[in-house]
Amino acid sequence: MKCSQCKNNAIVFLPYSSKHLCEQHFIRMFDKRFRKTIRLFSMLRKGDRIAVGLSGGKDSCVLLHSLHQLQKDLPFEMIAITIDEGIKGYRAKTLDIAKKQCEILGIEHRVFTFKEVAGKTLDQIEKDDEDKLPCSFCGVIRRYMLNKGAREVGANKLAIGHNLDDVAQTVLMNIMRNEPARLARFNEPIVSDKKFIPRIKPLMLTPEKENAIYAMMKGIELERVECPYAHFAFRSHVRKMLNESEERYPGTKFKIVNSFLEIEDALRNKYGKTASELGVCPTCGEASSKGICMFCKMIS
Ligand SMILES: [Zn+2]
Ligand SMILES: [Zn+2]
Repeated sequence: MKCSQCKNNAIVFLPYSSKHLCEQHFIRMFDKRFRKTIRLFSMLRKGDRIAVGLSGGKDSCVLLHSLHQLQKDLPFEMIAITIDEGIKGYRAKTLDIAKKQCEILGIEHRVFTFKEVAGKTLDQIEKDDEDKLPCSFCGVIRRYMLNKGAREVGANKLAIGHNLDDVAQTVLMNIMRNEPARLARFNEPIVSDKKFIPRIKPLMLTPEKENAIYAMMKGIELERVECPYAHFAFRSHVRKMLNESEERYPGTKFKIVNSFLEIEDALRNKYGKTASELGVCPTCGEASSKGICMFCKMIS
């Protein structure tokens, strides 16, 4: 099969656009979409100081790489931050990759450990309390610590590697759980705030699969390790369902995310309150929607 845009052999087929692409044209399309997404949502400005949430997984590594590439044309500062929850084996491997990526690209890297903040690693908490599901922790911990870390390194924005699949899943999950108010807060406008560092998702219109292909083409080292505690039952269900739909009806993920983008203003008008309008936690002083924040509740 030939590339839809040149005479070279195609190595990628994109069913949602019926395009066959060679390596060069795939990379070109990928980079163009990355920049377009940033422009579309005014994610970056000259002089920004961006903290990049770098887990060491493929999405965050591609994010780091693409932002680094963009720095050639748009002057902004960048520093990578990694949250070390203290999960033996799993985090050690991804932390290694994160460090190496930053060394290769010459990007400053800071690691924040869960133990510093909570006094315990996630492994210790899991051991001490058999009934508790660390998975419910993880999201809360990471979100809290990334925000705190981004603030500590003086960033005015936090970039995270959420891809199209993640976003489509979250949209659908909120609908299936009948939580429209949460959906309204999901993709918040970029408002600078002292407590809550606004989050940007430059890969939100990039399918997960294409991140993997791009990483491979660009020689970005990947490690296939899954968190040993991962058992997001509901998200797994939605992911499977979405992948099946995408297979049968290509473009489904884009359509879900685009529908959400069409109605998000209306949702926000109805449910109001952005993160910057939230109160603060009386225990730790971080942003919180009501009283003591989730993080402090979990820690105690
Ligand atoms: Zn081509
Ligand atoms: Zn708190």
